Order: sequence, then C-alpha cells, then structure tokens
Amino acid sequence: MPYLVNEKCIKCKFTDCVEVCPVDCFYEGENMLVINPDECIDCGVCEPECPIGAIISDTEDVGEKWLKLNQQYSEVWPNITLKKDAPNDAKDYEEETNKFEKYFSESPGGTDIVKNNNNEITEKRYEEKK
Ligand code: SF4
Ligand code: SF4
Repeated sequence: MPYLVNEKCIKCKFTDCVEVCPVDCFYEGENMLVINPDECIDCGVCEPECPIGAIISDTEDVGEKWLKLNQQYSEVWPNITLKKDAPNDAKDYEEETNKFEKYFSESPGGTDIVKNNNNEITEKRYEEKK
C-alpha cells in the first residue's frame, strides 16, 4: 500500500520529503506535491521527513480522494527530486483547514531555482527520470 500526500501540503511544500525517496516518485504541482502510488515502494522513509504530517499511508482512513488525486496528478506534473526553498508564506498556511477547496491548483510546478543538500543553487529544476 503506497504513501500519499494530502491537502496539508498545499501552500507549504517544504520539499523535505523528495530527496529521501529511493525511487524518485514525487511530482510537483504549483502549490503541492503528490506521490505516484504505482511507483511508491512503501518504504515509509518520507513520512517522518514531512514537518507538517502531510504524508500518509494508504492504509489510513483517507477514503479514495487522496489516492485518486495523487494518481491523477503524478501522471501529468513534473518529477521533483531536489529540495527547494519553501514559499516565504508557507508557515502562514500550516494550520489552515480545507486547503483543497480553497487553494488547490491543477497547474504543474514552476521553474524557479532549486538547491541541493549542500545548499548549492542549481538551475536544473527536475531530474530526468531514467
Ligand atoms: S514511501 Fe518510500 S517510495 Fe514511497 S514516496 Fe515515500 S520515500 Fe518514496
Ligand atoms: S515535506 Fe510535506 S509539506 Fe513538504 S512537500 Fe513534502 S509532503 Fe509537502
């Protein structure tokens, strides 16, 4: 059973999760990430990395909503494997509820600068999947 990203990620998007994934199965929308449930190997490594508890196991009582959302958008959004800076106002949205209804965007992630683990700026936005 795969892990999934829920609406808590919307407008937070700290991306602490992406670099630990051994199979690079995170995908980036304009204001949240999703996991491809077919690629996730259920290792659970990413779950404790998320500072706001936005990563959940498919075994939790989440219904079909987040599974469908993760499946659908991981097929159209770009892959993301490198950590980047969170939005400046991310903290303002951490505790907010019903973020999906208020803020969800179907748009794919942008093309801004990303940083690696050594805090080096790289212009490469996405790692190509092999
Ligand atoms: S559970 Fe493992 S494979 Fe699945 S998204 Fe998290 S780190 Fe990647
Ligand atoms: S660490 Fe959590 S909030 Fe941040 S991008 Fe990953 S799932 Fe979203």
